[in-house]
Amino acid sequence: MSISSSLPSTLRVLFLAAEAAPLIKVGGLGDVAGSLPLALRAIPGEQLEGRSLDVRLVIPYHGEVARKLLDPQPVASFLVNHPSGPIPTRAFITYVDGLPVYMIEGAPIGTEAPVYTGDNYIDGLKYAYFSLAAVEMTRQMNWQPDILHANDWHTALSVFYLAKRRLSRDPFFARTRSIIGIHNLPFMGAGAERALDEFGIRPVRDLRLPEWARQFPLPLGLLASDRIVAVSPTYAKEILTPEFGCGLQDFLNSRRSVVSGILNGLNQDSWDPSRDSALSKCYTMDSLDDREENKKALLQEFDLPYDPQVPLVILISRMDPQKGVDLAVDSLKEMAHHPWQAILLGTGDPILESACRSLEAQFPERVRAAIRFDTKLSRRMYAGGDLLLMPSRYEPCGLAQMIAMRYGCVPLARSTGGLRDTVFEDSTEHPNNGFLFKDVRVEELNAALERALKSFSNRIFWRELQVNGMRQDFSWEKSALEYANLYFDLWENQR
Ligand code: ADP
Repeated sequence: MSISSSLPSTLRVLFLAAEAAPLIKVGGLGDVAGSLPLALRAIPGEQLEGRSLDVRLVIPYHGEVARKLLDPQPVASFLVNHPSGPIPTRAFITYVDGLPVYMIEGAPIGTEAPVYTGDNYIDGLKYAYFSLAAVEMTRQMNWQPDILHANDWHTALSVFYLAKRRLSRDPFFARTRSIIGIHNLPFMGAGAERALDEFGIRPVRDLRLPEWARQFPLPLGLLASDRIVAVSPTYAKEILTPEFGCGLQDFLNSRRSVVSGILNGLNQDSWDPSRDSALSKCYTMDSLDDREENKKALLQEFDLPYDPQVPLVILISRMDPQKGVDLAVDSLKEMAHHPWQAILLGTGDPILESACRSLEAQFPERVRAAIRFDTKLSRRMYAGGDLLLMPSRYEPCGLAQMIAMRYGCVPLARSTGGLRDTVFEDSTEHPNNGFLFKDVRVEELNAALERALKSFSNRIFWRELQVNGMRQDFSWEKSALEYANLYFDLWENQR
């Protein structure tokens, strides 16, 4: 990275998200928005060549957040333009571990609505408003952002709005540059068109975008953004292809020079087998024999027999076709001639839930299906399971495989997206830490599962896989520095 002397010594970054842990978390986006801004602020000055980052987060003032906070301070009160009349808006600030977090309050956000209703007209109204309000809030506070970092479709319109402000030569935003993070491309905000109409945002005429996408929030953000970042290097390449591009691949290819991928990090304090209070026995990579106590306790909890020779296969996942739960169930059935036990944890699609239940019904002496969301159980499973199945059809980044490795549970994954960037089998550059298969075919998964099940009896080899996984660096520090470099590069190259 080279930083010219004309750069400001502190780059101001506004990070926008629909959710951010620990204030409000529904899914993986909440984890990222809760950790990345903090990790960016924690980068030591010498790694930024003496410069610094003033990163601030903005989220909607969801009802659930309001109920948690004791003393949010008002920072701005203003009107957001709307064709049928300006919307009174207030912004508040709170601090999470020193990170300034702004919260936008206004009628379209409501006081009781969930983060996502699943109805994109309603969510479209809320997030179109939030995106515009968050940008205008900076003007009200006279805090000129150098970088606007939006995430997913919910906040994509902030980037689109910024581009319009720049086009109309709004001096306040003349120097502001934008980044949009793609955490899950298929969710583009389809269904929000009427909501955008109501905000006066009409379909764009840009021929690079397919006609159907010209009034969807995410494509509009991707069109307007200075940089596009997917949550893993492999996913960044995959979204340029018909298999993963969701119909936007040609458009994304037209912007490929600004597309890159940065792997999400893992909160290593929260996921740490050496001090996880949910475990029967804590352990490190130097005391992996202690791990066995967790396997025994887990099997006992589920009333399954313990046999150190029999691998315990686990699955911890949203029950969604994306996750390949159907493939996992089919493959376990087809590999029934091998000794294995399995515990499956997840909720979601009723068809997949019932596929897991019927696997248990078919093999009551060795399968258990826990159809619920249970974080403590997931921790006991990561610590007690031998092999994690993650046969995702697509996987922008994936956390479960990283957690599994940190806990010495060996992943078996489809070689796609972030899985491909973190799980290695016979790689020339990385030590083996798991098992991979390529195509979405149960035969391929069977072959990988057979390799894994057979390898389990080779204790030395298996221990090596565990240790290699546990040694891997999944920290946010590495990824945060990549984002920081991107911010500085973007700033420098746009001038
Ligand atoms: P995604 O965000 O697409 O669901 P990830 O692998 O990135 O997938 O993250 C999933 C996270 O949710 C992991 O931390 C995993 O342990 C957790 N998880 C998924 N299903 C459950 C469940 N039923 N109970 C507890 N934790 C779960």
